[in-house]
Amino acid sequence: MEAPTLGGMRVRKGNGETLRLARGASLTDFAEKAGVDAAQLVQMLFHLGEMVTATESVNDATLELLGEELNYVVEVVSPEDEDRELLESFDIEFGSDEGDESDLVVRPPVVTVMGHVDHGKTKLLDALRGANVVDKEAGGITQHIGAYQVATDVDGDERRITLIDTPGHEAFTAMRARGAQATDIAILVVAADDGVMPQTVEALNHAKAAGVPIVVAVNKIDKPDSDPTKVRGQLTEYGLVPEEYGGDSMFVDVSAKSELNLDKLLEAVVLTADASLDLRANPTQDAQGLVVEAHLDRGRGPTATILVQRGTLRVGDSIVAGPAHGRVRAMLDEHGHEITEADPGRPAMVLGLSSVPGAGQNFLVVDDDRMARQIAEKREARERAAMQAKRRVRRTLEDFMKSMEQGSSQELNLILKGDVSGSVEALEDALSQIDVGDEVGIRVIDRGVGAITETNVDLAAASDAIIIGFNVRPQGKATEMADKEGVEIRYYSVIYQAIDEIEAALKGMLKPEYEEATLGQAEIRAIFRSSKVGNIAGCMVTSGSIRRNAKVRVIRDSNVIADNLDLLSLKREKDDASEVREGFECGLVLRNFQDIKEGDVVEAFEMREIPRG
Ligand code: GDP
Repeated sequence: MEAPTLGGMRVRKGNGETLRLARGASLTDFAEKAGVDAAQLVQMLFHLGEMVTATESVNDATLELLGEELNYVVEVVSPEDEDRELLESFDIEFGSDEGDESDLVVRPPVVTVMGHVDHGKTKLLDALRGANVVDKEAGGITQHIGAYQVATDVDGDERRITLIDTPGHEAFTAMRARGAQATDIAILVVAADDGVMPQTVEALNHAKAAGVPIVVAVNKIDKPDSDPTKVRGQLTEYGLVPEEYGGDSMFVDVSAKSELNLDKLLEAVVLTADASLDLRANPTQDAQGLVVEAHLDRGRGPTATILVQRGTLRVGDSIVAGPAHGRVRAMLDEHGHEITEADPGRPAMVLGLSSVPGAGQNFLVVDDDRMARQIAEKREARERAAMQAKRRVRRTLEDFMKSMEQGSSQELNLILKGDVSGSVEALEDALSQIDVGDEVGIRVIDRGVGAITETNVDLAAASDAIIIGFNVRPQGKATEMADKEGVEIRYYSVIYQAIDEIEAALKGMLKPEYEEATLGQAEIRAIFRSSKVGNIAGCMVTSGSIRRNAKVRVIRDSNVIADNLDLLSLKREKDDASEVREGFECGLVLRNFQDIKEGDVVEAFEMREIPRG
């Protein structure tokens, strides 16, 4: 095959060999691997209708397109694969237990509570926390650290369960999108007075997709109009068949409010874990696990709640958590008590990290601080590149032309700030799924944990962005500055509300679409000539109504002879009328149109904006 000669340019082609490129690689990275000149690739892409610079991150499709043009098979390496390779280069294996069978001990199941809004997820998490905390002597005073453990008695044994304290499947899905699966079992909460609702089904599907067994909590059975049997029937239709009907899903009727059957629910979780999962881990190795949530604490600096999946984490350990590193300065449990070690299944808030990691990112203990820093730095550089690729709008010449034809395509720039990284990710994830067509889109230009700062406002002003504050408020002079710069800041504490409003805003950015609606018809019965206003049509309204401010057309023998006319006047008897209805006579004068005849039909219509669905 000939070398591509786009624009008279020749580029050395490959022989179909595979190029492994990290997600978010630049043309320079590509050029290096393929042994060609990056500038040539820039030009080549330009001729293919894409404008990128040599060092800018490009998306998968662009890398693949280049590969096709140059006869390489491009393999875009996922962040997870890349991370595995990075850790391997340090001789670290992440994700599996060291040793053999005899080193493994049973660990608690990790549970996420999901279900439709208002069905009682939060209430249930609160009730479980209040009623069954492991350390009752702590006085039940608990802190929100993102996860907590409860204990329950099953056949005389004390069994522990770890509950992820962020209800809903958004966080669950955002974590999974990162290749992390913290959850072993899902509790699906369904209010017995409301039954299966859209988000019930969504949650169910998410759990199924992740292969996570489900225990159903049929909640609010204290309510007189509750119907737990109906819930069982409904879920059976979705393939979740209760044990008592011969299926393999456990359903427990509970009341989060009256704290009814909470022990039974916990028992069902343990039994489901025992029946379908082999939850064991090696507690003696270096600790590994996941970040459940993290935030920047004013006094303590970056804090991250981690979930130990294997090994035991100890104060003083050198750790890497996502792109953050540090030495564990202190660990706190859900009661705010200092602990010195955390074994598998144990959530703990870790202090001492260099920055705030993201929910769902992994953490691991490494040999020393230096290694921790090296890994963290590599991860950070990689994240930056990947983010850049994700952010980059793919502007092709074709797009440009299209948007020029259409007026212009539009984009809503957003800056997301949230209290914890989990919520920021969940929000970004949900926002990215809003789809209102090709004409408008969302672009998250920055995101972060913590208060809205002047820097955020600066960036928003420079790029015409809106700032979304999720459970956070502005800091210092940020509000003042936003007012001055005309930057809009919107505050939310519920993800759905944010999504709804952003979606509405996007629809507002769409050019309105109109459809014609016929209002009515009138037949011209007589014509009066007036030297002052011209020809006055004496009409009978035969259907609907004629409105003074409507548009009209004149129809003669079924042909439209004049369209889109305005009325100069509309009268009933001698009085001006704003509307004349069917069955009444009226006199009207058309603006700039005199050629009317008896028997003509005047049809009134208006253009209505079509609501976007
Ligand atoms: P979420 O949106 O799923 O987190 O729902 P919430 O936990 O916020 O609960 C929604 C509403 O239902 C609140 O007003 C709760 O007080 C109420 N609720 C939750 N569980 C029960 C229950 O078992 N019985 C009754 N009667 N109300 C409940």
